[in-house]
Amino acid sequence: MLLSGQTQVVGLFGDPVAHSLSPVMQNAAIQAAAIDAVYVPFHVTPANLPAAIEGIRSLGLLGVNLTIPHKEAAFPLVDELDPAARVIGSINTIANRQGRLIGYNTDGSGLCQALRGELDVDVSGRRVLLLGAGGACRAAAVALAEAGACWVGIANRTLDRADRLIADLASAVQGTRFASFLFDEQLPDRLGQSVDLMINTTSVGLHGEAFAASVLSCVSPGGAVYDVVYSRQETPLVRQARAAKLAAADGLSMLAAQGSLAFALWFGQDPLPEVMRQTLQQHGSE
Ligand code: NAP
Repeated sequence: MLLSGQTQVVGLFGDPVAHSLSPVMQNAAIQAAAIDAVYVPFHVTPANLPAAIEGIRSLGLLGVNLTIPHKEAAFPLVDELDPAARVIGSINTIANRQGRLIGYNTDGSGLCQALRGELDVDVSGRRVLLLGAGGACRAAAVALAEAGACWVGIANRTLDRADRLIADLASAVQGTRFASFLFDEQLPDRLGQSVDLMINTTSVGLHGEAFAASVLSCVSPGGAVYDVVYSRQETPLVRQARAAKLAAADGLSMLAAQGSLAFALWFGQDPLPEVMRQTLQQHGSE
């Protein structure tokens, strides 16, 4: 990669940031598209986030991604919000348009792209169960509702958090019914085999932890399971779902899809197909 006086800079703000696969994925896509740009990881602490966001403007960065713990904190610090990001309440991408900072959340739409591409699932008219009630769940719920899911259940081990989330969503999103559940061992008894698609939006599985396999009995025969967690090996949930003869995929495809959407927002063009995903697969297996 040759940097010139005109090289444009995009990057990632996170704390920590060193573990992220986004730099290798975005730089591979930038090189494949022969764009004079570079994607740089920046270790930004919460206390420095306002100054770092102001730095996007003062240094003329084309944009950034935001990762843990900045997605919610950055929300009020931009000049304008994409409508979906406004409902979600957090942003993972900022685009600098002539000094005006626009916040987007590409996680939810990246998830819907990944569901179509990996599992051939169109969520329109479907019943979807989300495990978890954090930031990834909120982004997923908004995108699923926008894509026409008829029912979205949110099951969390802290019921109060799921209740608050569905109260917010029900007032902001039309056309989808929402329901909250306590995520415990009785969840399958309460739901029966009633969901077409189950999505894990918790961090469970990141370090090889597994849910009780009984959670899969919420999914109807022929249904599918998506795990937003990704790891070098098959995640425990994906392994359990495949053993139960359900279609299943992990979050690598979502990571690539949310990155592709951010790339398009910064550079005004899609990355070459499959470059991000293949790069992730290659580096995820090192
Ligand atoms: P978050 O806001 O901290 O929420 C975490 C959620 O996980 C909460 O609902 C929490 O429940 C639940 N949880 C944590 N440990 C649990 C356990 N042992 N049993 C049951 N539930 C548990 O985190 P987030 O930002 O939503 O991120 C969640 C995961 O999504 C992370 O692993 C992140 O890497 C992944 N993610 C992936 C992508 C992608 O592109 N593939 C994009 C975004 C996020 P409580 O409310 O009860 O604490």
